[in-house]
Amino acid sequence: MDCWKSSSELKSYIITSLNQLGIKPSQQKGQNFLINSDIIKFQVAQANISTNDVILEIGGGLGNLTRCMVNNVKKMYVIEADRRLAQFLQDTYSSTSNIEIILGDAVKVDFPLFTKCISNLPYQISSPITFKLLNHSFELAILMYQKEFAQRFFAEPGSHDYSRLSVMMNLRARCKYLKTIKASSFLPPPKIQSSIVSVQKKTETLIEDEIGFSKFVTLLFSHKKKIVRSVLSNVLRRKAKQFTIPINLKIEPDRFTERRIFTLSLDELIDLYNNLKTKIGENLWLDIISQNTS
Ligand code: SAM
Repeated sequence: MDCWKSSSELKSYIITSLNQLGIKPSQQKGQNFLINSDIIKFQVAQANISTNDVILEIGGGLGNLTRCMVNNVKKMYVIEADRRLAQFLQDTYSSTSNIEIILGDAVKVDFPLFTKCISNLPYQISSPITFKLLNHSFELAILMYQKEFAQRFFAEPGSHDYSRLSVMMNLRARCKYLKTIKASSFLPPPKIQSSIVSVQKKTETLIEDEIGFSKFVTLLFSHKKKIVRSVLSNVLRRKAKQFTIPINLKIEPDRFTERRIFTLSLDELIDLYNNLKTKIGENLWLDIISQNTS
């Protein structure tokens, strides 16, 4: 099976397949199927796939994107949570040896090793899937998101959209905004616009202790509008009470601590983290941030 010749061929494939399976697309499961073949070709071209690539696709649906990659890559893993769609994909590719269909919730199943992830994501799992992807090693991801969600990757410190996601994305990847996609490119059309984003995993590490830093960012950004010193002082006060630690753990005012958390850039957060770790002592510091994010 080659990729789609036209959008009308793709659209009629989607309608016929849904009718055959008796499936009424579920909004709750993010079942909006892409019916514009140019967009699928664009995504595949952006991924620059080769026969060395192992592809992960999250939310395979009816295989409209799968079909345009499977013959040109070493291996493909497709995760699909809807049993009927997973069975449909299984039947469609029963005689294709380089594809594995995984029935399950992509948030919960273990990801296989892969080089590239190309997916039109079900939008309700955008956040956990993005954090999960960022914890994995891969080269490139070409992902479709709800537009407002994708914009958070590019948010500047101090802006309304700046969040833990913006920080962690910036720490672990280089992101490029590729395209805005109209709702009419899907069947059924969602109520929102979508965006295609490329996420290239960084190979260099900006901070030695990434796991500790990630916990620190989680701790701070759960109070992102507050002043750094007040949040950290509270945390330390609680800790001091628990273990009767001497009061020299007081957070002194400095160039970071009087700022609101959401105004700190990635570099500033890294500096702040390293300063605190040195001042408080590595073991106690890791203990404090672990306890406050569990
Ligand atoms: N790949 C198809 C396309 O491009 O048109 C379908 C994409 S559709 C936006 C999202 C797909 O993800 C649906 O097939 C839906 O059943 C599936 N899905 C929803 N929640 C999921 C989850 N937690 N894990 C895996 N797949 C999920």
